[in-house]
Amino acid sequence: MTRDVPIRSDGSYVLYWMQQAQRSHDNPALDVAIHHANTLGLPVLVTFGLDETYPGANARHMAYLLDGLADVAEGLKAQGIAFAPRFGSPPDVALTMARHAAVLVCDRGYLRHQRAWRRTVAQAASCRVEEVEGEVVVPVETASVKREWAARTIRPKLWREVERFLSLPETNPVHHPNVDLDPADGLPPVLVHDKRATLARLEIDRSVQPVALFPGGERTARASYQAFLANRFGAYVAHRNQPQTDDVSHLSKALHFGHVSVVRAVLDARAAAPNDEALDAFLEELIVRRELAINFTWFSEHDYDRYETLPDWARTTLDEHRHDAREFVYDAEQLANAETHDPYWNAAMREMVVTGYMHNYMRMYWGKKILEWSATPEEGFATTVRLNDRYFLDGRDPNSYTGVAWCYGLHDRAWTERAVFGKIRYMNAAGLKRKADPDAYVVKVARLEAEENRASTP
Ligand SMILES: Cc1cc2nc3c(=O)[nH]c(=O)nc-3n(C[C@H](O)[C@H](O)[C@H](O)COP(=O)(O)OP(=O)(O)OC[C@H]3O[C@@H](n4cnc5c(N)ncnc54)[C@H](O)[C@@H]3O)c2cc1C
Repeated sequence: MTRDVPIRSDGSYVLYWMQQAQRSHDNPALDVAIHHANTLGLPVLVTFGLDETYPGANARHMAYLLDGLADVAEGLKAQGIAFAPRFGSPPDVALTMARHAAVLVCDRGYLRHQRAWRRTVAQAASCRVEEVEGEVVVPVETASVKREWAARTIRPKLWREVERFLSLPETNPVHHPNVDLDPADGLPPVLVHDKRATLARLEIDRSVQPVALFPGGERTARASYQAFLANRFGAYVAHRNQPQTDDVSHLSKALHFGHVSVVRAVLDARAAAPNDEALDAFLEELIVRRELAINFTWFSEHDYDRYETLPDWARTTLDEHRHDAREFVYDAEQLANAETHDPYWNAAMREMVVTGYMHNYMRMYWGKKILEWSATPEEGFATTVRLNDRYFLDGRDPNSYTGVAWCYGLHDRAWTERAVFGKIRYMNAAGLKRKADPDAYVVKVARLEAEENRASTP
């Protein structure tokens, strides 16, 4: 999304409207802003619009985001760059700040509202607008020009391009540092170093509390990822379907908020890989699955979070089985309260409510069971999206909508027909027990709950 007009000669600064890539390092949009500023002999100003009406935002998401903004403020200051985060709708903040900008640079988001914001800014800005894509390895429209069928169809397309995009240039120092630059915009500032006060002034849902076990920000994200690479990467292949263990990267929440660069994550994984098998398995998730999800939301902009987005075969088979007898039916409240007959599912729901995270294998089981226990597939789909976005720190992400839709057949094939599911892939507790150790998982969740309670008690 660009506004292709000449750079304004009377601008006072180069503006980077940061919204998706909430980091001060390994950030291609920031690099482009610095490059322009150095060429024009101007300072860089970075802004961010903190929107309390952001779809689904609650105290948990906002606390994590504010941790990130505090790191951004520190990181930019060290580079001589002013940071002016403001309360307000992101496009309004961007347009206000753009009034005195020579050029506005922004990053890219892959969801409906993120794209709408950027379109608004590109149409209304009083200066040139350049969008820089930095949250994928292969730019979404370079990887493919259409909604892909499955991992098998996008995988070769991605791998053909990956090497071309796997580099991060050194960030140039700014030639005209000015951390005190005052844009005189009149918008209410976000005091990023006073998280408590900032959270208190937001009119948001406080029933979902921040997670003490997982603070946000680029520094924490880097340290946590390095710990995974150094200590647990070697067990990734054996344990990626073993939810009772914790040998996964926990990168998803940091990627969702842009606290880490995916290109940096891939380069670091390559450098640290204990063997090719671990690297291949990890990059299959980090590049192929993640960028398949981004392909899905990008090319299904209007319905990626709706039941109607499912492939025809999936909706047909679910329709044929909509009147099948269901052994258990739970409503959204019973599900959110983890009040089902299934101790493994309840533990997964507790992990999600208390920690904002869940191991991938349990996410699959969790989603499949909501389909099985809902009165209709449409209701199951909608409930899953709602719970996912409400509790997960990494919710409201392309991976969220793709993960939910996968439970209903997206990117998958038809399996043996059975009640309720039709030809949709099925999972059950017996399978969990055969392949993993769900009883140990229940114990792990109880331990995590106790740790979170301890960590969050003042
Ligand atoms: C029902 C359901 C809901 C889901 N909801 C979300 C969500 O809200 N947000 C989210 O980020 N992911 C979601 N996923 C995908 C996946 O479960 C998580 O990305 C993963 O468990 C995050 O943990 P990790 O970072 O430790 O993963 P790791 O195993 O360490 O993987 C590294 C990275 O690869 C990517 N990745 C891993 N698995 C997948 C996958 N199946 N699809 C796409 N990318 C993947 C993620 O970016 C992840 O951070 C969902 C999956 C299902 C089945």
